[in-house]
Amino acid sequence: FEGMTIGELAKHTNESISTLQEILVNVGEKFDSEFDTLSIDIAELVAMETGVNVRRLHSNEGAEIFPRPAVVTVMGHVDHGKTSLLDALRQTSVAAREAGGITQHLGAFVVSMPSGASITFLDTPGHAAFSAMRARGAAVTDVVVLVVAADDGVMPQTLEAMSHAKAAKVPIVVAINKCDKPAADPERVKVQLASEGLLLEEMGGDVQVVEVSAVNKTGLDNLEEALLLQADLMDLKARIDGPAQAYVVEARLDRGRGPLATAIVKAGTLVCGQHVVVGAEWGRIRAIRDMMGNLTDKAKPAMPVEIEGLRGLPMAGDDIIVVESEERARMLSAGRKKKYEKDRLRKIDEGRTEAPEPSE
Ligand code: GDP
Ligand code: MG
Repeated sequence: FEGMTIGELAKHTNESISTLQEILVNVGEKFDSEFDTLSIDIAELVAMETGVNVRRLHSNEGAEIFPRPAVVTVMGHVDHGKTSLLDALRQTSVAAREAGGITQHLGAFVVSMPSGASITFLDTPGHAAFSAMRARGAAVTDVVVLVVAADDGVMPQTLEAMSHAKAAKVPIVVAINKCDKPAADPERVKVQLASEGLLLEEMGGDVQVVEVSAVNKTGLDNLEEALLLQADLMDLKARIDGPAQAYVVEARLDRGRGPLATAIVKAGTLVCGQHVVVGAEWGRIRAIRDMMGNLTDKAKPAMPVEIEGLRGLPMAGDDIIVVESEERARMLSAGRKKKYEKDRLRKIDEGRTEAPEPSE
């Protein structure tokens, strides 16, 4: 993870070495030749100036990788029970049982199984959050739980969720909810889903279907097992050593503590005291709290944490990268702000040219 040479960066960005060297001069970096190694944040800054999507520069090549928990998002039609299901699942978490309920709202929670395995649930159901995160390049979700009410069946937002998951290449596990209701007809739901092209397991495909009731809290074990099985199939792994690559899933302003962001680490370990750039914001991590609100000094992959110490409020989907100094953090943040502003103006401009001509 030592960064890359100017020559390698030229390849990544499709820019000439002289262009990159010019940018380096502009940002006040010294270099001798194209074989000079740039730190990852300088490489990112330079790449950003060329307009390249910089997230791809962060690679896990060569690092030792370990299994990590799956990160799951719940989606489905309004009123089909997303919030109820998340609440029920949250109550199955060991932490919730031990502490008599999770008091802290983090935007994510972890359910730990007796086997020692765990699942991380994003606590913000809905397509808007999912799309916003994806639009920002944040591939946080590994699996989508598609909630369909057994009495209501497939509805417009069910289909929308299916197409979001498909576009993101995220596998679906179906939870047919409200199976306690007299009007529940899970078989009908399955037929509907199949006719929409979902290849259900019991029909020879690989999409698991679980019947649950969020209200009666039945079938939750089966859902958790199905998610673990799905995660196993995906063989999810992450590097634990080295600088963290993380995403914001939620952010809020606390009067006393300032900007707070719930983050999920994708790779590496986030450590208290580190300088970070978060989207276009920056800061130094002053405190890390786990989902119980307890202070901790680090965050490992798939562990939701709340971080404190940012200078501004980031947005859901923003990436978090670790840089080596406050100066670098400021510089990268300023570079990103400039780039975001440029992108914003370009979008407005495009909107203008795409708008239909006013009719006479
Ligand atoms: P969301 O819009 O998808 O988040 O749906 P909610 O969780 O808010 O649930 C909508 C309504 O369905 C609420 O009145 C819930 O109490 C009810 N509901 C959710 N899950 C179940 C269930 O398993 N059984 C029954 N009978 N009602 C449910
Ligand atoms: Mg809801």
